[in-house]
Amino acid sequence: MYHQLISGKHDRDGSSALAENSVTIAGYSFEEYLNMVESFHGYTAPGLIIGGFMADFALRKLPPNTLFDAISETAYCLPDAIQILTPCTVGNGWLKIFDFSRFALSLYDKYQGKGVRVFLDANKIAHWTEIKNWFFKLTKKQEQDEKLLKAQIREAGAEICSFQDVSIQPRLLQKRHKGSIAVCAGCGEAYPREHGTVCRACQGQTPYVV
Ligand SMILES: [Zn+2]
Repeated sequence: MYHQLISGKHDRDGSSALAENSVTIAGYSFEEYLNMVESFHGYTAPGLIIGGFMADFALRKLPPNTLFDAISETAYCLPDAIQILTPCTVGNGWLKIFDFSRFALSLYDKYQGKGVRVFLDANKIAHWTEIKNWFFKLTKKQEQDEKLLKAQIREAGAEICSFQDVSIQPRLLQKRHKGSIAVCAGCGEAYPREHGTVCRACQGQTPYVV
């Protein structure tokens, strides 16, 4: 599927189909992408629109036919842009989230670990007033001009991003092994034995009120 995304969807010589001023994200029209965002994410969050341009940018930087994995450096918005536009999801393990709250993503060769990191560049948003207000939280959400914000994001595209070549740490390229499975003496459910004598939930990490 990603072969199509890269070499098919990204094939720019089919330009006749698109008007000159049209904006595309990974081969989708801007409006198509907004619809996908709305159905997947619930609403067209600004971060997810920028994230679409970032993922598109990274996809175009990868060599054709690369089997890639993804990293998001924030848990907000960017993971969903990656999950909408690439085959990488949290569930299939090809998307990893590093919860740094940095607005950056990377796509990299899943075997060699070479790839590209794209980030929203704080130095490039100075004259995009509404993007700057949103990104640095300079205005309260109810005071944001959402229409202007989205118009600026559409116009700016990947212009407000920078990229760098990256190599992923080798330990992250190895397959995850769960090791042997035990039955927890506390809850009676199966868990990886390497977590300890009882499961992590019974160690106090449960999200539920007990
Ligand atoms: Zn347990």
